[in-house]
Parts: sequence; structure tokens; C-alpha cells
Amino acid sequence: MKASSNDVAVILPAAGSGQRFGGVQNKLFATLEHVPLWLFSVRRLRLHQRVGRILMPISASDRPRFETEFAQAVAESEVELVAGGKERTDSVRSGLEALGDDDSVALVAIHDAARPLVRHDHLDAVFAKADQCGAAILATPVTSTVKQSFDDGHSCHTLDRKTLWLAQTPQVFRVDLLRQAYAKHRGRPATDDAELVQRIGIDVALVPGSPENLKITYPHDLTIAQAILNIQSQHEHARTRPDR
Ligand code: C5P
Repeated sequence: MKASSNDVAVILPAAGSGQRFGGVQNKLFATLEHVPLWLFSVRRLRLHQRVGRILMPISASDRPRFETEFAQAVAESEVELVAGGKERTDSVRSGLEALGDDDSVALVAIHDAARPLVRHDHLDAVFAKADQCGAAILATPVTSTVKQSFDDGHSCHTLDRKTLWLAQTPQVFRVDLLRQAYAKHRGRPATDDAELVQRIGIDVALVPGSPENLKITYPHDLTIAQAILNIQSQHEHARTRPDR
């Protein structure tokens, strides 16, 4: 399949409550370098020429804020706000429905709005793999020894870490495959979209990403994110230095 500009639609689920983050507001309103996390994620994605429509499921309680305080940012970054749902899969389904029958879309990339630091070269790689085989996700090989326990830690055994990966987003699928997966989904819990696509018999490829693409879950993740951002900025600065 030949890649063309704007042929990847992004669904950017942002309708979570972020309970582990604490606080009264959605964690996606927390800021990194004065930019709210959801907007940071949007801006990263907008830098990629294949990214066209961005549909962002949001909760009913956050909608007033997006439509007032952030109305300009939403309009400028051409984000389509859609109604999020109770579970993350409900939010993604709502984004997929809002996409409609859009002929210009080849791939749908589902990306957690809470992962603001995804790298351009990793977007390239996961889009290219999804072009090739229909379904691909970013993931990182597990580096620690992993123990499994079925009795609350009284005893355990060791899993072969060579076979283990940590799933990230974007998770990228040919649009027809994702539609089929959601049409078949009858509410059985799934922790990510790749699992739903696997359930319809499609192999999902793992594309090596990086721990830089962390998901902001706890407040201290913001400190780690800032450190990663500093390193990324230094690399970018070195890459674009005129004397090189
Ligand atoms: O809670 P967690 O960070 O794992 O959620 C991953 C992403 O999915 C977040 O960006 C969150 O806002 C989003 N989400 C959603 N709808 C839900 C639950 C989570 O859009 N019902």
C-alpha cells in the first residue's frame, strides 16, 4: 500500500477519570512546559504528515472546559471532539463511529492522550508496519525478570522475558479490520485494541518503541516526562545545529 499524506486518522481517547493521578481534574489538563497533556499529544501527532483527522473522545464533565478555555486550541489543532464512554473501548468505538465512511482514511491509529512524548520515527515505523500487515502496535521488550504468582505472592514462578513485551500506543490498524473487531466486540473486557483485533483472527505485529513514550499515570510521571523532554530537545538541537 502506498502511503499518502493525511491518510491516518487518529482516535485519541481522553475521556478517562485518571483516578491514580489523584486531584479533582482530568490528569490530561496537567501541563508539561505549560501545555496541557492532551494538547501536547495532539501537537506531536500533528507534526506527522500522514496524520489527518484527529478525533478525541472526551467525557461529558470535561466538555464545557474544552469548549471554553480550550476552544481556540481545539479549533487551531483541528481536533474533533466526540463523546467518550464509560470504558476506554466505549470511547474508541465512539471515535470510530464519528469517523464515518471516510474514503481518505487507510489506517486508524489509537493513541492514549496520556502519552504526550511519542517520537516521530516511531510513528513512521508503526505506520509502515501497519501498511504492510494491517495491524501493528508500538511495544518495548521487557528488561526485568518477571515473576507470576497465583497466590497473592506466597509463591511464584519466572516467565521467560524473551517472549514478553509491554504494549504501548499508537496501536494502528487498517480501518476495515478495526471496524470488524469493534462490530464483533460484545463487551468482553479487553485491555487494549490489539486484543480486540487479535480476537477476529488477525496477527498484530510488535514494533519496537521506547520507554520515552511513557503513559502519564501518577503525578511523579510528569517529572520523568520533563526529563525525557529535555533529552529529546537536546537531541533535536544537536540534529538541527547549522554547523553539522
Ligand atoms: O486510565 P488510563 O491512562 O490507562 O487511560 C488511557 C487513556 O484512555 C487516557 O488517555 C484516558 O483519558 C482514556 N480513556 C478514555 N475513556 C475511558 C477511559 C480512559 O478515553 N472510559
